[in-house]
Amino acid sequence: MPSYRDFHRLSIDDPETFWREQARRIHWDTPFDTVLDRSNPPFARWFVGGRTNLCHNAVDRHLADRAQQNALVYVSTETGIERRYTYAELYAEINRMAAVMRSLGVKRGERVLLYLPMIPEALFAMLACARLGAIHSVVFGGFAAPSLAARIDDAKPVLIVTADAGARGGKVIDYTPLMDEALARAKHQPAHVLLIDRQLAPERLNATYLVAYEPLREQFFDAHVPCEWLESNEPSYVLYTSGTTGKPKGVVRDVGGYAVALAASMEYIFQGRAGDTMFTASDIGWVVGHSYIIYAPLLAGLTTVMYEGTPIRPDGGIWWRLVEQHRINLMFTAPTALRVLKKQDPALLKKSDLSSLRTLFLAGEPLDEPTSAWIADALGKPVVDNYWQTETGWPILAIPGGVEALPPKLGSPGVPSYGYDVTLRNEATGDECTPGEKGVIAIGYPLPPGCMKTVWGDDARFVSTYWSSVPGHQLYSTFDWGIQDEDGYVTILGRTDDVINVAGHRLGTREIEEALSSHAAVAEVAVVGVTDVVKGQVAFAFVVVRDAQQFADDKARNKLASELMKTVDRQLGAIGRPARVLLVSMLPKTRSGKLLRRAIAALAEGREPGDLPTIEDASALTMVRDALAGR
Ligand code: AMP
Repeated sequence: MPSYRDFHRLSIDDPETFWREQARRIHWDTPFDTVLDRSNPPFARWFVGGRTNLCHNAVDRHLADRAQQNALVYVSTETGIERRYTYAELYAEINRMAAVMRSLGVKRGERVLLYLPMIPEALFAMLACARLGAIHSVVFGGFAAPSLAARIDDAKPVLIVTADAGARGGKVIDYTPLMDEALARAKHQPAHVLLIDRQLAPERLNATYLVAYEPLREQFFDAHVPCEWLESNEPSYVLYTSGTTGKPKGVVRDVGGYAVALAASMEYIFQGRAGDTMFTASDIGWVVGHSYIIYAPLLAGLTTVMYEGTPIRPDGGIWWRLVEQHRINLMFTAPTALRVLKKQDPALLKKSDLSSLRTLFLAGEPLDEPTSAWIADALGKPVVDNYWQTETGWPILAIPGGVEALPPKLGSPGVPSYGYDVTLRNEATGDECTPGEKGVIAIGYPLPPGCMKTVWGDDARFVSTYWSSVPGHQLYSTFDWGIQDEDGYVTILGRTDDVINVAGHRLGTREIEEALSSHAAVAEVAVVGVTDVVKGQVAFAFVVVRDAQQFADDKARNKLASELMKTVDRQLGAIGRPARVLLVSMLPKTRSGKLLRRAIAALAEGREPGDLPTIEDASALTMVRDALAGR
């Protein structure tokens, strides 16, 4: 094996040679004729002309060697259900689901929107789409009806797959009234809604849409649906993510590049081998779920563990018991989960036999040093951070342990992964930063295989959002600040835009502001991210009301705050709910009317906002201070 440095250099200097070699990890029904088409930057096409299929590579291909190996272990501590599926059984379930979808008119290139809890059928449905060449768009089950409606209108699915309910922390979340409302709001209407009945809640879905899954599954029980061989650059899925505007962007992924990138990452970053068991504690609604619950472990012939529940129910030892019971080798989660577990009885961790576990991977938000040190010490295993985004699909920064055992450095997720030409750039000049100098983390053209191809239905937005913010250079911006040291390790210093990260979930402050503004009492609002010991960040909302007289006393103010939180729950979903709603009579702004968000966030974190020469009225800062102090 070459050194990390040589390996990375080759991937940047000669991506064709590098990725041609990596492409051998997957099956191509028709070989590609060009590794990389760079004729239309910043767009890049990988493995042009090659035909392949994600479902074939994730499932069918393994039937020869591992038909009887578990492909999926499903555990729900919400319902008490535990199921195992071998690769052969998984193949059968996916074929049933694909046949059902086909009977409902789903074809190659069409969209299927999945609004599903963590149940095995969610995985079957994603892979059934892949099999048919249909484009799945998974919407996180925590999103409310208006957010769901916006995604329905953007993706225009022919089919929606949903369930009667989700469950979290022992509470059943009825999905069908929510779906009804979303469909009533959406302009686009799917031909059908396929309902997986978990028998957790009464079905209340409007009957004209409804198709029950179970009878159709019986009807197509013995179906074999051939894989559609897709050109490598056809879309495999759309996954919506938040940005600075109120309108979420549909991140488009391809087929061949994604398969190759994930398969390579399993060796070089996650060091997972066929036959291993991997437990990624995330949700299928997020990118970590797409890549490391579903596709990567299966592409590489592992057993994937899919878990519905929280890390602390029935108690804080549940995850460690899963490790023991299922001989889990690799675990992947977000730091928030560990901060939650840290508050539990530490003895719970010692009660289970963790000898099968090799490494715990973490991503999605900054890993603070106390949490990192606590878990590494408690587990006695390597804890490995990695940094990436919905857009990239796999780690930008990591410790590529499968290439070279580089020592981790506390506070840094690691070095640029092979394929990523990472530089730090001065925000004002676009010049490269020197080691130790803070800059925007940028990636050179082309993005490696597996990364975002475009914004769904909006190529211009892909270029203007991601490739136009570094002055003088056409570079991809991550919108994260960072510092790179002499050895190439990067430390992440937070977002450059108005995106916040609550418990590893990415939210646009603008989306929360729009939800709050829909309340009749609100004249103006600013939402900022504030550091939180458990969730990393939480949202604080500073609200200017239309009629201050109405909210003069505490009771009226508290009532309004709770109403506003409910408004966010209804408009966006509980994940967007601000931790605090504070009434102010004025927001700090510049003379040109721009909100001084960084100043507000500083005050909320108990820091001084620094010099603000452009502020219109400095007394607005005092009002924010007073509101925070409860005055
Ligand atoms: P998402 O697209 O939801 O995965 O969110 C991506 C964002 O989460 C990044 O742009 C970062 O701001 C943050 N993030 C992800 N992983 C890390 C990490 N390991 N350390 C620090 N921040 C991270």
